[in-house]
Amino acid sequence: MTGSAPAPGAASSSSGRRLQQLADLPVTVLRGVGTSVAGDLAELGVVTVFDLLTHYPRRYIDGTRMVTVDQLSDGEKATVLATVRRVNAPPARSGRGRRPPARVELDIVDAGGRMRVVFFNQSWRARQLPVGTLALFFGPVTTFRDALQMVNPTVEVLRGADESATDDDDGPSSGRIYPVYPLTEKAALTSARIGRLVHEALDRAGPFDDPLDEGIRIRHGFLDRTAAFAGIHRPTAMAEVEPARRRLAFDELLRLQLALVLRRQRLHEDARGIAHATTRPDGPTLVEQFVGRLPFPLTTAQVRAVADLADDLGGPLPMHRLLQGDVGSGKTVVAVAALLFAVEGHHQGALMAPTEVLAEQHAAEVRRLVDGLTVPDPTTLAGERPLRVALLTSRTGAADRAAIHEGLAGGTVDLLVGTHALLTDRVVFDSLGVVVIDEQHRFGVEQRAALRDKGRGEDGQGSDPDLLVMTATPIPRTAAMVVFGDLDMTVIDEMPPGRLPVVTSWLRTPLEAAEAWSRVVEQVGSGHRAFVVCALVDGSEKVEAASAKAEAERLSDHELTGLRVGLLHGQMKPADKEQAMEGFRAGDLDVLVATTVIEVGVDIPDASVMVIEDADRFGIAQLHQLRGRVGRSGEPAWCFLLSESDSPEATARLEAVEASTDGFVLADVDLELRGEGTILGARQKGRSDLRLARLLSDRDLVVDARSLAVELVEADLNLHDHRLLVEELRLFIDDDEAEFLFKS
Ligand code: ADP
Ligand code: MG
Repeated sequence: MTGSAPAPGAASSSSGRRLQQLADLPVTVLRGVGTSVAGDLAELGVVTVFDLLTHYPRRYIDGTRMVTVDQLSDGEKATVLATVRRVNAPPARSGRGRRPPARVELDIVDAGGRMRVVFFNQSWRARQLPVGTLALFFGPVTTFRDALQMVNPTVEVLRGADESATDDDDGPSSGRIYPVYPLTEKAALTSARIGRLVHEALDRAGPFDDPLDEGIRIRHGFLDRTAAFAGIHRPTAMAEVEPARRRLAFDELLRLQLALVLRRQRLHEDARGIAHATTRPDGPTLVEQFVGRLPFPLTTAQVRAVADLADDLGGPLPMHRLLQGDVGSGKTVVAVAALLFAVEGHHQGALMAPTEVLAEQHAAEVRRLVDGLTVPDPTTLAGERPLRVALLTSRTGAADRAAIHEGLAGGTVDLLVGTHALLTDRVVFDSLGVVVIDEQHRFGVEQRAALRDKGRGEDGQGSDPDLLVMTATPIPRTAAMVVFGDLDMTVIDEMPPGRLPVVTSWLRTPLEAAEAWSRVVEQVGSGHRAFVVCALVDGSEKVEAASAKAEAERLSDHELTGLRVGLLHGQMKPADKEQAMEGFRAGDLDVLVATTVIEVGVDIPDASVMVIEDADRFGIAQLHQLRGRVGRSGEPAWCFLLSESDSPEATARLEAVEASTDGFVLADVDLELRGEGTILGARQKGRSDLRLARLLSDRDLVVDARSLAVELVEADLNLHDHRLLVEELRLFIDDDEAEFLFKS
């Protein structure tokens, strides 16, 4: 592997090293990497030299700021980098006698002198830290018999005893920066070993070919790729790391955005969209009638959202749009408007929910909202008939199912509500015009294809339906650009007027919980109602149902005696559920003890209190979504989070929900707490390219990568002048996707 330096001033030299070349080289080309080391590297997901170079340090130890043992003082927490000089581990006593607590004692040495390190009950430390090991010791410094020592410090091995120091690693006092590489317990490798392999790979690779030409690099203030790889793997000062990380993170984001933008363009390329009728010459459109009959005016944000829809739907290309809005911001009304645009031009609309319970709730809501609207029907005397909404789930009986199938094929069912399973079902539409998907990041690329098939029909002659994806709770904007980057976005950033924030308290003891129950009693006394939500139990609906039942009984006997307490869970028969909901809605029940089936869609304006038991078992988005079930009338409302948990994760979640009722703020917190993995994992399969990019703090990079991707794709869909980018993109996508994105 040799590489000549690029000619001075060359924008993007083609003589440098390409990532694809490194991806073709197994790690065994590196010195000293035989099958055993290669096996250890494979445990880390490192198979090729390219994998090695993108196995980035998890953090760095700044040797330039390390203290030496002679500078330590009693009581401080310190980090020292030192070599093990002596190990004293009493041999494990044989026989059946009681063993003394295992005690391992080390003497470590650095440029400042010698110090004692003691481990209790960690006998394996003797094996981990034989004489000659170079490691980092982090922990409290104490005095024992007039000498300083560290007890049970955290240890990071930088170089094993059997590994020899190399030229560029001249010992602990050299003041260099040590990258700390991610390791697994299984892999018998040290961070320093990986570092040395990376050094060799970088040395032998030579200068890299850069997919970003100089103009772009200057515009964004980016390092070139050669400097970026050096800066991330062997910085000579900590200040070199961040610019290097930003450059490499940008590369990741650019590849991702290119894939998304290309996918969008390709979908448009051979699309067969419907230009929907968004006006009516002789009177108000269905949407206008619908909006006119609502008991409230639309918010400005809703008006804007409906206008976005009209623009998309009236045009010839199929819509691919994401509708984001906080809980209670009124997304349902906008979704129904989308469906009615389809019906206006004699097409059909479909609304799909992630679960059957939600589908049932949506159906009830949609029926209520479109009640009284009519569509033309020449076969009737009046020349019109009521708009027809059908619900199709696995619980739909055979006879009803047959009738609905017939109505869909014949065009007499206008709106269909069901689960995502509708896409794979044998349902045939007369003309499917608009599909609304209510989801939490569950709708993937495969479903997109199924959707298209539905629209085109069995003979393939139909058109591609327009698509609106709704999120149940907001996700951060930059995350949305990454996860839903192939969709256009509409954000409802305004709540209907007159809403008071729900007063939220985390109650940590049974004593504190009394406050919640007395609030429930008080509110019921003044004509309001309350929800009690029981925790998820092991994901089993049966167990969950049983515990909700027990809790309802317990509450009626104790805290809530005298109140009318009802029960709602997923295992109840639809009729019983209906009855419980109706009783609650009508005021025949004061309190509804429910499992999370109420999470989405339940709309009971009189409900003013929500008590969430074992609140630590829920995620932030879920708690926020649940809380959105109260405070929908403009009157004061309360949400009590009951949890005795003191785990740091639960504390962070509950405190966040207590502190803010803004779903967009909470979405940021959630991303910060859970990291990008969970958000990305849901929708991206295969190799995830985002290793260095941080969706919260790298907002500017996400936006810049997006606009560069759009710029490049708009200039040339085949990216002919950017062969290197295309080649690199292919490293991260599977063959099917590559086939779709790069047809030529
Ligand atoms: P979400 O965005 O959480 O799905 P919904 O669509 O369920 O919110 O709406 C929440 C509540 O607000 C519903 O009771 C709905 O009828 C009401 N609503 C929607 N739009 C408005 C508006 N413009 N003014 C007043 N209330 C509205
Ligand atoms: Mg809703």
